[in-house]
Amino acid sequence: MTDLIREGDRSKEVADVQSRLRALGYKIEDEGWFFGPSTTAAVRAFQQDRSILVDGIVGPDTWNQIVEASWYLGDRDLYLKHPPMRGDDIASLQARLNALGFDAGKEDGIFGVATDRAVRAFQKEYGVAGDGIFGLVSHAALMGLRVDRPGTSAHLREELRRMEKRGIAAAMVVIDPGHGGDDRGAVTSRGTNEADTCWAIATRLADRLASLGAKVRFTRTEPEAPDMSERAMRANEVDADVFLSIHLNEHAEPTAEGTSTYYFGGSRAGENLAEQIQEQLVQLGLRDCRSHARSYPVLRETRMPAVLVEPIFITNPDEAKRLEDHEFLSSVADAIAAGVRRFFELAETR
Ligand SMILES: [Zn+2]
Repeated sequence: MTDLIREGDRSKEVADVQSRLRALGYKIEDEGWFFGPSTTAAVRAFQQDRSILVDGIVGPDTWNQIVEASWYLGDRDLYLKHPPMRGDDIASLQARLNALGFDAGKEDGIFGVATDRAVRAFQKEYGVAGDGIFGLVSHAALMGLRVDRPGTSAHLREELRRMEKRGIAAAMVVIDPGHGGDDRGAVTSRGTNEADTCWAIATRLADRLASLGAKVRFTRTEPEAPDMSERAMRANEVDADVFLSIHLNEHAEPTAEGTSTYYFGGSRAGENLAEQIQEQLVQLGLRDCRSHARSYPVLRETRMPAVLVEPIFITNPDEAKRLEDHEFLSSVADAIAAGVRRFFELAETR
């Protein structure tokens, strides 16, 4: 790509830029293929997040950055070559290796000699092919390791300090809109379904968190339906600080109503986060069904404080009807965001 892509353009390249930015969590309201004001705003926000020249125009530099940002760890084999490979997947690899005590050097997303050395050392220690190529097997070995296994508590403490220092303004929040693709989740007799509703809440929540200064990514694109482990892995790969999964509750008894949040039992931070979100949601006048420990894969396999939110029962006709009210969806998103903000504020004063 050599040409500049800018406001007013209408092309396949514009659509490509839009879908990549959306997958990275940036909101774009312009119609597909058309580079309107909303696309310009998303490009500017992206440029700001990447600390590159902010002009709202996609030139070669911005395009390269968008491509680099689109790589998730596990998407491709990583190894030392010239010119070096670049991408956010390499930055996640470096962060993971550094956290485990293998010195991968600066977490700059460039696969250089230090990263090569660290990959080889990691492969040697864990008995996977010592060829310096970070491929499928190495990836599985690395992702199978939990940072809370015995011996890494120092790392956990360090993570916590890092989080306390940064607050929500620099936090990476991964939002997981439940279901998706062919899986519509629970469906009401009025035709409302869980997948669309979760998506609508998730996009509003992303907006709200971004306005508080957080970086936001989704676990999936709109037509996708990855399984829970895959969603957890995607959050781990971007080193998220907080993970929020959005679902709706359901029950055979249509009078069941209210709001619940879930966390992984044993995760103090997850429990705190769940309680903060619960407190804010209840203030919307929803019945308090409390926070509960659960071992859903999205909660168990994520390495950061993780909460699954079920703001209402889709099987309750009164509550389901409220889902058709966009303002209600926004107020649910605002309440969740307020809970996340409160969680970070409390971490700072602790
Ligand atoms: Zn669900």
